[in-house]
Order: sequence, then structure tokens, then C-alpha cells
Amino acid sequence: MDRAVIGHRTSDLSSLLAEIDPMLRRIFRTERPVYVSSSSATGFMEAGVRNGVRRRALALVNGAFSERFRDLVTACGREVEVYDVEWGGAHDPEEVERRLRVGGFDSVTVVHSETSSGVLNPLRQIADAVRSAEHRVGEEILLLVDGVTSVGGGLVESGEWALDWILTGSQKALALPPGLAFGSASPRMLARAETLPGRGQYFDLLEFDRYWKKHQTPNTPAVHLLFALKTQMERIEAEGIEARAARHQAMARRCWSWVESTGAAHGLSLFAPEGARSLTVTAISLPTDLRGTEITAKLKRRGYTIGSGYGKLRDQTIRIGHMGDHTMEGLNQLLTELEEVLGE
Ligand SMILES: *Cc1c(COP(=O)(O)O)cnc(C)c1O
Repeated sequence: MDRAVIGHRTSDLSSLLAEIDPMLRRIFRTERPVYVSSSSATGFMEAGVRNGVRRRALALVNGAFSERFRDLVTACGREVEVYDVEWGGAHDPEEVERRLRVGGFDSVTVVHSETSSGVLNPLRQIADAVRSAEHRVGEEILLLVDGVTSVGGGLVESGEWALDWILTGSQKALALPPGLAFGSASPRMLARAETLPGRGQYFDLLEFDRYWKKHQTPNTPAVHLLFALKTQMERIEAEGIEARAARHQAMARRCWSWVESTGAAHGLSLFAPEGARSLTVTAISLPTDLRGTEITAKLKRRGYTIGSGYGKLRDQTIRIGHMGDHTMEGLNQLLTELEEVLGE
């Protein structure tokens, strides 16, 4: 990133994006274009709404980021109905289908890995439920997915699951500095976008698509982040996408089994139920005599940063991120420190 900047309308920049593109598509596991935006991930959540929601969306809400997706729908002037599940729970695909079958929905918003609660939604089954409801009601329903802590962590089959919009950001499972968002749209998402007024300009996916064809971006990109992106994509390819997913899974399992043995002896438990746990972040419930913010402060003094609870879970939970370039060795060191902190 300390290289000299290159002009954004140069062939050098186009070559850079041309090299990055196939690597991004392998991470998203799709043949579709993956657009690069110089914005945070929320920008591409908004793009999903502006380009994908015609009039009314069903928002699946089970934590802080899915609440954000819900709020973006109304902030962009569309109607929303909410399928609420308490924080810590996942959505039931059958219930998704039931609600959609009533009719009147043209889109669904969902967060795959709810970073605030450590819950992984059954995305493939939810995608099947949306397709099945769509056939029943005879109206097109687009599935808009926030994959911020899932893409690059586990294997998100964007193509095979026919996701209409799937996005992530640079600073989570891809372990890059913040400032870039990545997203991939189905052909019918782009066709929908063409019919929607009010797409705005900065997040107009038709513009992204037009420039993508030339290996360019609609506006000046964060060029230095693109340098970092290329380097990191090459590192990820060297590790292997499957191997990376396996490493995330191994770290997740290690974290869960630690909580269920060592952690349980101190009154800790896993916040998300079995079968619905994120591979990239584990939320841990604390007994009432422990405060999340105190634990994170003590670990900080020992040189380790973990998350306290998110939003309303601030003091009831702590969250361990085991994504990106973290290693089993690093996780084990952290867990040793955490055990000592709990014993103090
Ligand atoms: C971090 C996060 C976001 C927001 O990302 P920004 O880059 O801050 O906009 C959205 N969704 C999920 C699931 C996240 O973890």
C-alpha cells in the first residue's frame, strides 16, 4: 500500500482489476461479475435495496446487522415487513416460505452470519424457500444477502444457490483494511434494477456493471486498497479457498469445545444453538456476575482484542472473531489468556 498511486483511468488500473476479478469470483464461488466499491459494506447493503427492492421486502431480522438491512429498506423509501427471531436464533426456512406465500413481496433481505450474535442462518435452505414461494405466488422475489462475515470464511455458493445479491466488506473474513465492499448480482437483479427509479448514482449497479466490463470502476477507487486486495487475493489463493474454509471451521470448533469444557467451568455457554453457529465469530454468554466489557479490558492489557457484546448484548456476552488470517495457534493462546482472566 505504500506504492505510488496510479491513475484510475489507466491501463495499469484496468490490468490490476482484471487480475483481481477471477480471484474474487472464486471466493464468491460464482461465474458472475464481482463489483468492487470504495465504500464500507453498508454501501453495498444499500445498493441491494436500491437496485433490488421494488416496493416491499420481507426482512429477516435476528440481530444488529439484519436490523440495519431492515432499516435501509425504509430509509430508501420502500415498505418492509419483518420476520423477527430473537437474537441468538436462526430463521426457519419453512416460516420464510409461509410468509412469502401470502404474496405482495418482491424481495427478501437476510444476513448470512449475524456478527452481533454469532448465528449462521441456513442460507441454502432459505434460498430454496424463496424460490419455492416465488413459484407458488407467480411473482419474482429477489434474495438479497449480507455475507459480510461469511464470504471468504466458509464456502458461500453464490452461483449454485442462485443468490440475487451477495455482498461483503474488506475488513472481516478477507482480512484487509476497511474501505472496500464487494458484491455480485444475478442477471435478474440487474434486470430489476433497470426498471427501478431512485437507484441513485453512487450505488447504481448498472453503472458498476458497465464499468466492470472495461475493468474499471464508475468513480475513483481507493487505489491503494486495490493494491492490498490483489496481494491478499493471491495469499488466499495460495492457501486455497477450501483450506481457508476448513481453517475457519476448525477454529470455530475449537472455540465451541473450549466454551463447553473450560468455559463452562466458569459459567460460560455458547449463545447460538448447535447447528446455527457462525464459522467466523463465536458469541459467548456470561454468567450474571461477569461483565463483557471488563473481560475485554483485561484481555486488552494482555495484548489481545476480542469483542464485547454487540448493542444490547454488550455486557451479557463476549465475541471471539476467528476469521481472516487468524490461526489455530493464535486462538489457543487467546483461550489460555482468557482462562487466566476468568480465574482472577
Ligand atoms: C461489519 C458488518 C457490516 C457492516 O460493515 P461496514 O463495513 O461497517 O459497513 C454489515 N453486516 C455484517 C454482518 C457485519 O459483520
